[in-house]
Amino acid sequence: MSSKPVIVVGAGPVGLTAALALRAYGLPVVVLEAGREGRQRPGSRAIFTHSQTLQILDRISPGLGAELYEHGVYWNTQRTFFAGKEVYAKTYPDPPAGSYPHFTSLPQVQIEAYLFARAVASGVDFAWEQEVRDVHADEDGVTITTAVGREWHADFVIGADGSRSVVRKQIGAQMEGSKDDGWYIVVDVDELETPALPQERHFHYAHPAVEGRNVLVVPFAGGYRVDLQLVEGDDPDELASPEGVRAWLDAVLPPGYAERTSWVSTYQFLQLVAHDFADPARRVLLVGEAAHLFAPFGARGLNSGVPDAEAAAIAVAAASLATNRGAAKVPVEAFALARRSAALFNRDAAGEALAHLRPDPETAARIREAAERAPQDVEASTWLEKAPYGPRGVHTAETVYRY
Ligand SMILES: Cc1cc2nc3c(=O)[nH]c(=O)nc-3n(C[C@H](O)[C@H](O)[C@H](O)COP(=O)(O)OP(=O)(O)OC[C@H]3O[C@@H](n4cnc5c(N)ncnc54)[C@H](O)[C@@H]3O)c2cc1C
Repeated sequence: MSSKPVIVVGAGPVGLTAALALRAYGLPVVVLEAGREGRQRPGSRAIFTHSQTLQILDRISPGLGAELYEHGVYWNTQRTFFAGKEVYAKTYPDPPAGSYPHFTSLPQVQIEAYLFARAVASGVDFAWEQEVRDVHADEDGVTITTAVGREWHADFVIGADGSRSVVRKQIGAQMEGSKDDGWYIVVDVDELETPALPQERHFHYAHPAVEGRNVLVVPFAGGYRVDLQLVEGDDPDELASPEGVRAWLDAVLPPGYAERTSWVSTYQFLQLVAHDFADPARRVLLVGEAAHLFAPFGARGLNSGVPDAEAAAIAVAAASLATNRGAAKVPVEAFALARRSAALFNRDAAGEALAHLRPDPETAARIREAAERAPQDVEASTWLEKAPYGPRGVHTAETVYRY
């Protein structure tokens, strides 16, 4: 077994998870990160962390899932409205003591802070301001060159360098899929003591206060995420400007919240999956947004990046024990197949959610008819509630063992 550290490129949440998982298998790790030490990452991004993700984090760093759960919030009431009329409401019982609920909700910056603290404590080395420019992988190993001209050598590399991944481009992996034409504005607001908003998730089809646009309000620890779906003819820049945001937030939230925005961003969502999750020599493995990009409905981004990272670490640990190159390629091949298949599932599931949110005339009519029958018609009511998030199910690392 080689004593060279495994290189992880990118200290985002998925790279940090991969580094922790490699340490759980006793492998030395160095993380190459383009940013400087102590950087503040802009934006808010993931909030919704599935219980399967917490379980994986507990496996790779005992107690980490529980730490996230304790600092997150869980709401057990969900409501759906159509043009202001409530068409679905359900309150789930609290989970049994000692088990996680389906999810916890906290900002990605906090998730990253907990992961980083664990990574440091577990002995992961970090090399900051090492922007990877060139990756060369062959039968003998991997050589990485960074923007400052430093060379790094490893037997295995995990590429977790996000959506514009240089590692992905360098190994020749192509992104396949599409871009959704619709625009969305995502805003985070800080919590107010009064008037307090309920700890409930509300989805509004055709919100009457914003001229029939769809609106989603989701609590997280310390605040609320509000998504506004724009319609044909809307100007995203205008609606995302400080005045634009204030106007529509005031219309959908109680007074005061429009003054409490902590983050505003405008999105068109990509639905892309790399054609291969590893290089031809099976030494460089792609994980997280380096390998796939999904629209966030159903919260499949980070929640699938974490199982990617665990599966990649398991593959590298097994490959490191192999006594010849042929044997070493097998677990990497299995990783690439399993996690690509999970990504395709997730891309298509997020695609179904997108199609529901930007319906063709037939689906739009079906939504209106269902809204007329709901909430009395339980099937119609449940469909209206579930469809904006796509089909249920996440692929977890267990999928890997099917190969
Ligand atoms: C509005 C929104 C809401 C979302 N909500 C959810 C949610 O609720 N649940 C969920 O599961 N997911 C959600 N996601 C998706 C989630 O945010 C992403 O899946 C996640 O951030 C991906 O993490 P990553 O580590 O793969 O990439 P990133 O977070 O992009 O990290 C990449 C890291 O690599 C570094 N890097 C980049 N290039 C280089 C280079 N050349 N050399 C060295 N380092 C480099 C970067 O500096 C960065 O630190 C959401 C996304 C959005 C936009």
